Amino acid sequence: MAIRSVNPATGAVVRAFEPLDAAQIEERLSRASATFATYRRTTFAQRAEWLRRAADLLDAELHDIAVTMTTEMGKTLRSAEAEAAKCAKGMRFYAEHAEGFLADEPLSDPGVVGAKRAFGRYQPLGVVLAVMPWNFPLWQVVRFAAPALMAGNVGLLKHASNVPQCALYLEDLFLRAGFPAGAFQTLLIGAGQVEGVLRDPRVAAATVTGSEPAGQSVASICGHEIKKTVLELGGSDAFVVMPSADVERAASVAVTARCQNNGQSCIAAKRFIVHEDVYDQFAQLFVDGMRALKVGDPMDPGTDVGPLATEGGRQDIEELLADAVKHGASVLCGGTAPAGPGWFFPPTVVGDITPDMRLHLEEAFGPLATIYRVPDLDTAVEIANATTFGLGSNAWTTDPAEQERFITDLDAGAVFINGMVTSHPELPFGGVRRSGYGRELSAVGIREFCNLKTVWAA
Ligand code: NDP
Repeated sequence: MAIRSVNPATGAVVRAFEPLDAAQIEERLSRASATFATYRRTTFAQRAEWLRRAADLLDAELHDIAVTMTTEMGKTLRSAEAEAAKCAKGMRFYAEHAEGFLADEPLSDPGVVGAKRAFGRYQPLGVVLAVMPWNFPLWQVVRFAAPALMAGNVGLLKHASNVPQCALYLEDLFLRAGFPAGAFQTLLIGAGQVEGVLRDPRVAAATVTGSEPAGQSVASICGHEIKKTVLELGGSDAFVVMPSADVERAASVAVTARCQNNGQSCIAAKRFIVHEDVYDQFAQLFVDGMRALKVGDPMDPGTDVGPLATEGGRQDIEELLADAVKHGASVLCGGTAPAGPGWFFPPTVVGDITPDMRLHLEEAFGPLATIYRVPDLDTAVEIANATTFGLGSNAWTTDPAEQERFITDLDAGAVFINGMVTSHPELPFGGVRRSGYGRELSAVGIREFCNLKTVWAA
């Protein structure tokens, strides 16, 4: 895939970039490695000062970078601005808490192991490569970079090939904030150039947010090289609604949960599993809500849903839908892409889903929802766990026993009760099964790329 910005609302090529050649990659790798040797010895206070300055710059430049994000990947300008603001918040969170998260962990009674002192100390691993997707072109990167930089690691970013201007902005932002030149560098390279970087002995670890094939490739290479990885892959989150739920509220949140980011979020609710007692009411409200969304120019403040980011992405959605319809699914709203330029697709709800449909198992990365009618809680849990993924999950019920059952039995990295799955800097984020492994954010996230060194001293 060529490295270029293509406006998804028009299909027009905005800018194109030459990928780095071998000598340019080498220059950046050696700069990263040399920087780590000194950067790791900087204080938390110094790193926090730089990160806070990055947050301040980002706040000041919020509108301009949001325009770039919208132009490159089609999210609404409103949501792009919210994403940039969230990044500034995430930076400040780690500027404030990193030192505490990485404080020495003393053993209260070192005599038990025959020592005068025994403790764990978190130390940075080194150069970490981040392979990142286009859907949250700033947040996905900052979610990695803020903790990694605070821990004393240095970062290399291989961003998705359709968001190069966002990638270059981030490198420039950290540089202007005061970080040393090699602390955070963007590598404008294609997916085919990632292997060479991963195998380089100066690279210590890697993190991937993206599809299963990308995760498999990076993890196998890193497995061969014995390098740590964190994988944040796809998801097909269930959204279960039980009879005791506030059905109106659930339906309204369901619309947002499915169509956020033009339907292209790994933690978007994708499969709506509704108890038969409230199915008709929920389905009507949900379909009405989906129909009411305004699809159009993502720069327009009145738009709810912009175009999909790529032509291929829209084609994937159309193929999943066609397969379901061929096997007997019914389309409750939407379903047909409008004529004209841009990769638009209307909010769509599909019912009468059966296990032979691809849509039953696969992730729909666009505003396409499936809805299931279930007779009881056991069936709801069974369908919720029927995909190969396990990222987030939602359950709507006010019954404490049912809540406990969902908390225990949903196979996912997160369960949100009576609310929408959202990432917060304060909460661990990640999945199980084919959604990946490892965690980002919170105290757990910053420790992923650290060596927890055991210290024993007599
Ligand atoms: P891709 O996996 O194709 O792209 C993501 C990144 O991986 C890009 O930088 C891409 O580079 C790179 N990449 C792709 N193939 C390889 C490879 N073989 N080796 C190394 N790098 C590779 O994902 P999509 O563009 O399809 O993005 C959407 C997917 O990501 C969805 O499945 C979604 O669920 C998942 N995702 C998961 C999230 C999470 O947090 N768990 C968040 C967001 C998305 P290039 O662009 O050059 O191909």
